[in-house]
This record gives sequence, C-alpha cells and structure tokens, in this order.
Amino acid sequence: MYESSTNYTAIVIGIIFVQGVIFGCACAILANSKNRSIGGYFFLGFFLGIIGLLIAVGVPKLNEQESKDRKSTSYLWKNQYEDDKHEEPADVDAKVVPAVSTKECPFCAETIKYAAVVCRYCGRDLPERNASQ
Ligand SMILES: [Zn+2]
Repeated sequence: MYESSTNYTAIVIGIIFVQGVIFGCACAILANSKNRSIGGYFFLGFFLGIIGLLIAVGVPKLNEQESKDRKSTSYLWKNQYEDDKHEEPADVDAKVVPAVSTKECPFCAETIKYAAVVCRYCGRDLPERNASQ
C-alpha cells in the first residue's frame, strides 16, 4: 500500500542517514588520529559510506611530530656542516692539515676526527681546537 511504502522509504532514508552518520563519525575519528580534517572526513564517510571509511583507513598519517623531527635533523646536519666549513681553515698554519678533517691525538698520536673533543683511542680530553688561535 501507499502508506506502508512511504513508511518503508522513510525507514530506508533513516537507515541511510544513520549509517551515513556512523561512517561519518568513524571517518572523523580516523581522520583525527591521522591529524587530518575531521569535518571533511565526516562528510566523506557520510556520503560515501564504506568507501569513505576505506579512504580514511588508507590515507597516510600526517604526523606533525615526525615532520618536525625531520626538519630539526636537517637543521642540525646543516649546522654541523657549517661548523666544519668554518673550523677547517682555522689552523691551516699550525700544521699540515689533511684534506679530510682529521688531526693527530697529542697523547697517543692516532689520527682522529678533527672535531673530536675526546680521543677515541686513548679516551683523553683533547685541547680545545680554538685554544691555539
Ligand atoms: Zn689519543
């Protein structure tokens, strides 16, 4: 009958709406855990249902901390590189400095890194590089 069919349509619409909200919430939760737009993924799940949910599951995680770490790592690396560049000409006059930035430990005469503060062979504290300046 007409009336029961109207009820059926209303129920179907209701189910679609409810499952849209459920998928929308699920997508929003997933999006939130991945540092992504909650509202955008809610609508994605609402309109696309399971497909939207799969998209939310498959989307790569945006990790703010990770990108921050990567940035600071490259910053440190850059700093070190600049240090090396800066330090290298400092004691060219003192003794013959090898092309690579190494020096001789004054205690055990092993070749160690120029930037070393402690000798890796004998473990002694090395004189400050800029003390001789
Ligand atoms: Zn040494």
